[in-house]
Amino acid sequence: MTLAIIVHGGAKTITEDKVEANHAGCLAAVEAGWAVLTAGGSAGEAVEAAIRVLEADPTFNAGFGSTLNTAGEVEVDAAIMEGAKLGWGGVAAVKGVRHPISVARMIMDEKPRLLVAHSAERFAADNGAEMCAKEDLIADEPLQEWKEEQEVVDRPNTVGCVALDASGTLVAGTSTGGTTNQPPGRVGDTALVGCGLYADNQLGACSTTGDGESIIPVVLAKTAINFLAGDRHPDEAAQKAIDTLKSKVEGEAGCILLDRQGRVGWTYNSQDMAVAYMTAELGKPVVFTKKEAERLEKLEDGKFTPDQLVERLGMNRVAGSGQEALSEA
Ligand code: ASP
Repeated sequence: MTLAIIVHGGAKTITEDKVEANHAGCLAAVEAGWAVLTAGGSAGEAVEAAIRVLEADPTFNAGFGSTLNTAGEVEVDAAIMEGAKLGWGGVAAVKGVRHPISVARMIMDEKPRLLVAHSAERFAADNGAEMCAKEDLIADEPLQEWKEEQEVVDRPNTVGCVALDASGTLVAGTSTGGTTNQPPGRVGDTALVGCGLYADNQLGACSTTGDGESIIPVVLAKTAINFLAGDRHPDEAAQKAIDTLKSKVEGEAGCILLDRQGRVGWTYNSQDMAVAYMTAELGKPVVFTKKEAERLEKLEDGKFTPDQLVERLGMNRVAGSGQEALSEA
């Protein structure tokens, strides 16, 4: 059985000054998850390891560095699902927990449930999760934005990961600080099975990001998985899922997928999305903040680094979406 792992750092606009941090964070996460898989670890362990890296990195809107709600607090959601027995666990509207993905995994291992607020915090503390003062999850930049009510460029970067292990088990996980200035207690798609994540060993696994209020009514993750039927390529399934969202509701979103053969798919209708992945066929992990860069890399057969490709893309971009231009090339 082949091994594969893919992570995302959120569907949003990534300004020039943040590209490097997004690349570095996603690469570090993929490397952490890949190390687990190649050492014989499970997909659940790999997803948890990868997401913990992203939750600890203030570049991303998950764990430490999450966006603040209207009360100036970090309140997070996370969930994990495995595709062998359709086990799952989630937490929502949680404060003072460093790694919500680990708590979600503990819940999955105990009994499938979505625990919210104090009940989730109590479960985390009782089961030895890393607790902290709720203020300790606030990073400088989101705090400044909140204090000065600075215009936030776009939705902050939710994180997610999908992995396939040697036993053929697929696992998906997603973790978020939610949306900027959300009211306390608001819960988006991230912790909801079918919306923010889905896994089924017969088909594939998916983690999503984007406007939760748009993702929920189209059940985006399960919609993407359904499109894998008939051996459709995960890239095409991802695109069809995002097209479905666009045709039914307004909103921006992105998704990452692996199918049961370990083939990779991802797309988004936001400006950018940071993605990194590693598979048994690749010599080293690859990382992108634009789909066009991946297409170019494939076209150029790996002659350029991702950064050079983005630069080339900027030079070559023509009217219309970059994706259309490149697929015509
Ligand atoms: N989906 C997340 C939420 O609605 C936010 C995001 O992915 O940007 O809470």
